[in-house]
Amino acid sequence: MHYEGSCHCGEVRFNVDVDLSRPITCNCSYCQRRGSILAFTPEENFELEQGEDKLTEYRFNTRQIAHSFCSVCGMQSFARAAAPDGTKMVAVNVRCLEGVDIESLKPTQVDGRSR
Ligand SMILES: [Zn+2]
Repeated sequence: MHYEGSCHCGEVRFNVDVDLSRPITCNCSYCQRRGSILAFTPEENFELEQGEDKLTEYRFNTRQIAHSFCSVCGMQSFARAAAPDGTKMVAVNVRCLEGVDIESLKPTQVDGRSR
């Protein structure tokens, strides 16, 4: 499915093809605080339309995941990372996509805290 997404203030905008049938939440120290629902897609399915210059990057722990958030409104709408096989992936914050019925999603909780 194709979606439009953005941060809160609209400086960061993107469109993405992503499958929302298996979204996740995560209990790691970062995701637990943030409370986002994530869905993953290969980077070629993700197009940042605007806002690259507004993005601030945050990395922690193994520093493998580039958490990108808007420096104006603070919203993190996506993150970039490589899958174990090296494929460049984008983790989209499903809550930042337009036209998604959040209540209909059944996210699987990933135990990121133990990794
Ligand atoms: Zn913003």
